[in-house]
Amino acid sequence: MQNKFSIAIHGGAGTLLKGQMTSEKETAYKHALDSALEKGYAVLEAGGSAVDAVETSVKVLEDSPLFNAGKGSVFTAEGTHEMDAAIMEGKGLQAGAVSLITGIQNPVSLARDVMEKSEHVFLAGDGAMKFAKENNQTVVNPEYFYDDLRFKQWQDIKGSDSFQLDHSVKKDSKFGTVGAVACDQHGNIAAATSTGGMTNKKWGRVGDSPMIGAGNYANNKTCAVSCTGSGEFFIRGVVAYDVSCLMEYKGWPIEKAASEVINKRILEIGGDGGLIAVDVQGNITMPFNTEGMYRASKTSDGDKEISIYK
Ligand code: ASP
Repeated sequence: MQNKFSIAIHGGAGTLLKGQMTSEKETAYKHALDSALEKGYAVLEAGGSAVDAVETSVKVLEDSPLFNAGKGSVFTAEGTHEMDAAIMEGKGLQAGAVSLITGIQNPVSLARDVMEKSEHVFLAGDGAMKFAKENNQTVVNPEYFYDDLRFKQWQDIKGSDSFQLDHSVKKDSKFGTVGAVACDQHGNIAAATSTGGMTNKKWGRVGDSPMIGAGNYANNKTCAVSCTGSGEFFIRGVVAYDVSCLMEYKGWPIEKAASEVINKRILEIGGDGGLIAVDVQGNITMPFNTEGMYRASKTSDGDKEISIYK
């Protein structure tokens, strides 16, 4: 048994701009982050696996209307909700991902079913929905996902060719994906990420979140990573795997590797966002190059953080 265990979560690098954040809203966001963090941490404290911990935390975030995943997912151009999710564990490099799914209450659990109950890694669209039903995933009505703010965000750009990341204010790109990374008492790490994508998206657009190596990755040799940000750039930057590679090939510590990718490499190709990462020693880093990132972390050393801005 290793002594130190830890967990970190994010609710997206697309926080409301500082000027628009009221103390009431801030309390609501922090409360939701705290409850997701503590539920995941409790799993680790009881000796549970990193995979169980990240799934537990992400489910809590998916069930909250505040974040762009699960219940809080944004509207597509057709007025539907299309969600993506991925989960990966670092010991055996097992992974599961789903994309373009609708009506599933907890996409992260479906991704986990793909990892554990299928021979595949990535299922999308109708096929993924069929698999979900065969595996008794909870299916909810479209009304479950209705939210006044999300509806308004969609109405503002409906019928146009533009699409927007969550919380977009004018041209500011904002992101609301959720994710979790954890290191358990046995020294295993895992990562999970879940998103509703971008408001008014069409053509079956898929972002980085469900793509193994882009928005989500875990490897016990290096780290577990969950990203949030401009998906197209994170895909081309293969961001999560890049952090892992810098650790593996250059021997860099997690904080240096993650900072290099978020504060240099992704900026150089025009991307913005952030990530959370953990290594097998339980060290956590949460860099972002946006105004804020909803984030929280807790370690068995007694360190706890819940923050929104820098
Ligand atoms: N990365 C996500 C996507 O492009 C968006 C986000 O992080 O909010 O779908």
